[in-house]
Amino acid sequence: MSTTFIETRGNDGQRAERIGFSDAILTPMASFGGLYSPAELPQLDDAFFEQHRESGYAELARDLIRRFGLDIEQTVIDEALALYRRFDDPDNPCPVVPVGDGLFVSELWHGPTRAFKDMALQPFGVVLSALARQRGEEYLILAATSGDTGPAALETFKNRDGVRVACLYPDGGTSDVQRLQMVTEDAPNLKVIGIHGNFDDAQAALKRLLASEAFRRKLDEQGIALSAANSVNFGRILFQIIYHIHSYLELLRQGVVAPGEKVYLDVPSGNFGNALGGYYAWKMGLPVEKIIIASNRNNVLTDLIRNGRYDIRGRELIATTSPAMDILVSSNVERVLFDLFGAERTRELMDALTEQRCYRLTDEETERLQQHFVADYCDDAEGQRLIRDTFEGHAYLMDPHTATCFKAHASCRDKPLKTIAYSTAEWTKFSPVIAEALTGKSGLRDLDALQLIAERAGIEIPPVIRALFDKPIAQPTVIDKEDIEREILAFLEQG
Ligand SMILES: *Cc1c(COP(=O)(O)O)cnc(C)c1O
Repeated sequence: MSTTFIETRGNDGQRAERIGFSDAILTPMASFGGLYSPAELPQLDDAFFEQHRESGYAELARDLIRRFGLDIEQTVIDEALALYRRFDDPDNPCPVVPVGDGLFVSELWHGPTRAFKDMALQPFGVVLSALARQRGEEYLILAATSGDTGPAALETFKNRDGVRVACLYPDGGTSDVQRLQMVTEDAPNLKVIGIHGNFDDAQAALKRLLASEAFRRKLDEQGIALSAANSVNFGRILFQIIYHIHSYLELLRQGVVAPGEKVYLDVPSGNFGNALGGYYAWKMGLPVEKIIIASNRNNVLTDLIRNGRYDIRGRELIATTSPAMDILVSSNVERVLFDLFGAERTRELMDALTEQRCYRLTDEETERLQQHFVADYCDDAEGQRLIRDTFEGHAYLMDPHTATCFKAHASCRDKPLKTIAYSTAEWTKFSPVIAEALTGKSGLRDLDALQLIAERAGIEIPPVIRALFDKPIAQPTVIDKEDIEREILAFLEQG
């Protein structure tokens, strides 16, 4: 088959009704502000799971991508998948470890920046750069980050042809480790800009630039097109389908499930890219009972799944200890709505969200959503308790995002099936929160917290993290948000 992409809010008569994978990556703006979604998905049968029982990750990924039939050369796909060799264990970039009570944790953070964004952004960087090169085009990727996307995007695009990256982060709004991962990145095609303000300010500045005709014209004069590597880009979602299938195969290999035995997928969710990857994997044939959506106190998704109501009127974003999940408008949910209810209804719902900051599903629609998803949320204090109890009870260290899954695992299952929970960050990225959970000491800087946890757990601080504190700062820029455009244009003029 050859996968084509259609629009979640229907076609406006101006754009093509169907596009290929490479266009969906490079020009992701669909009609009426919608997203591109695959018109059909390849189907996996029992023979597929049998065939890949002993496959390494790249082999599995290559076969899955081949079944999609994408308009990308095999050499590019191979080069992209080769990046998993940079993970701790090249054949098994996301190990699945048992943590008691039918719970198995798929650790998605064994890549270069120690958070799950690497799983998709590492190969995506190769694909995007190759497409730019083939088309003889030059892209500026704009990113705004609360701490995980920025390092992963910089790491993947570093020194790649055809792509330059400008990455905005809130100065003082990330962990020390996250900031150091960005400001120590030294490559001529990367620009890291700290903003006086919070993540919302950084994101608002980014959206303004992406929408600005004047900015686009100035880039045009330099022969540069604008792109975004954000989590609605299907080029990222594709690579997020694969690890759900791999994680299930791991359970088969470990003899924990029998072929065809259903499992729960338990996903700490923000923009819903990870959960959507699981949903597509399920539609392709992965034996899933339900997808458990774990949130923090920004629990819009819990409300949606339990009550069929997406309501952000009067909701303020709450800053939690799991900042990568501090999101009110969860973009990839739209692709599920489209899949379940069609383009016309999706457009209606998304318009209502924009105009009234609220939409309501019918009872029948809510039931259909609930056939696929269950949900719960976890506040910071519960998360801290779970981090401590899991360390003390199972000698397992986890970060605050992962902790939300443990709460949902306990509350959401109604059948005694195994659960695959996704761990999205290494303990090193959120060490002050974890040190507080384990020792009660609050307000530590990252380096002290890392040392404390390492001592307590009898482990070493991973060398890539320890080294950050001694690296020279290559990206010292911190500016007011009014000056962002000028700063980026000056960076581009350096060539
Ligand atoms: C991005 C991120 C998430 C949320 O993932 P989505 O795909 O946006 O739902 C959760 N945890 C961590 C650590 C992340 O970096």
